[in-house]
Amino acid sequence: MSQTMKAAVLHAVGEPLRIEQVAIPQPGPGEILIRIVACGVCHSDLHAIDGDWSALPTLPLIPGHEITGHVAAHGEGVSQPAIGTAVGMPWMYSACGTCEFCLGGMETICEHRESTGYSKQGGYAEYMVAPAAFVATIEPDVDLYALAPILCAGVTTYRGLMRSRARPGQWVAVMGIGGLGHVAVQYAIAMGLRVAAIDVADDKLELARSYGAECLINALDNPVETLRQQIPGGVHAVLVTATANAAFEQSVKMLRPGGTAVFIGLPGGDADTVRASISSISGWELSITGSNIGTRHDLNEAVLFAARGLVKAQINLERLDDINDIFARMRTGQLVGRTVLQIA
Ligand code: NAD
Ligand code: ZN
Ligand code: ZN
Repeated sequence: MSQTMKAAVLHAVGEPLRIEQVAIPQPGPGEILIRIVACGVCHSDLHAIDGDWSALPTLPLIPGHEITGHVAAHGEGVSQPAIGTAVGMPWMYSACGTCEFCLGGMETICEHRESTGYSKQGGYAEYMVAPAAFVATIEPDVDLYALAPILCAGVTTYRGLMRSRARPGQWVAVMGIGGLGHVAVQYAIAMGLRVAAIDVADDKLELARSYGAECLINALDNPVETLRQQIPGGVHAVLVTATANAAFEQSVKMLRPGGTAVFIGLPGGDADTVRASISSISGWELSITGSNIGTRHDLNEAVLFAARGLVKAQINLERLDDINDIFARMRTGQLVGRTVLQIA
């Protein structure tokens, strides 16, 4: 094995990534080395690079957190998953395992959690190390390129739908049919929900229609009124995966009495604050909740939907060398489905 690997590295927030040869990391106690096959390109990586969020990433940083690959080496004390096993690594790099949230099955809000490709080195590289206890194991016959987006887009929207408490037969609006949204539509349909898809781009709405979305709304044209005309009374739940602030304020106005808006997108900066009607929320018993990626249990369940063929990301395979160009297209909303880096 050569001692260096190719990686895309962020040296300063706001700068393009640099393609470099860096040392292959060595797994420490409790860790494994993953030989990476694929890594999806999530909009959170673009937020990291642009420094959109108040807590900035660790520099220099290898971004990327929709990772699939194979176990290549074990650190001290690790015997599982076995060498060669197919594994996936999500945004949640680790959690403490002992705080009240971890003990309560809510490791997504552990205050000591670490984030793959943000506070820890991620998957825009040929290898990475990860805590053995936080990788998902994957059945050997699963397509690791197609599965990569499930490691973030999949688990995040799966958990978001669970947190919406929408039941089969009820309406859910998915705002933003990007990398997250296009798999959200599929999870919703697989769960027996009825879907309204909302985006600013008609080609993305068409993709949602192909999965079974019944109501398609272009957000550029009075989305709240249009939705309320097409679905009298409003929707039971909204999943906001859009990156524009306007979508979050609109989402609450689309709810039926008793409905729940789930905030997932993270526009950051000045766009981080919403205005909402207190009297509507109180008088109609509306809920606004957040959803932060997913627990390991959520991830295993989300992967199972994909392994069974109920959810399949539309992937466009591209090269690590083209990462800055991919981000330029993501910024202008040109990516349909999910772009996945073909690393091996
Ligand atoms: P993406 O760029 O693939 O998709 C965003 C979509 O939003 C695009 O299709 C775009 O056309 C659409 N959009 C833009 N403005 C809109 C508007 N006004 N109304 C409706 N749709 C609009 O991004 P992605 O990878 O799907 O990520 C989406 C967001 O989710 C990002 O902010 C990302 O950081 C966040 N995210 C959050 C979590 C979490 O755990 N909470 C996890 C992953 C990603
Ligand atoms: Zn992500
Ligand atoms: Zn914890």
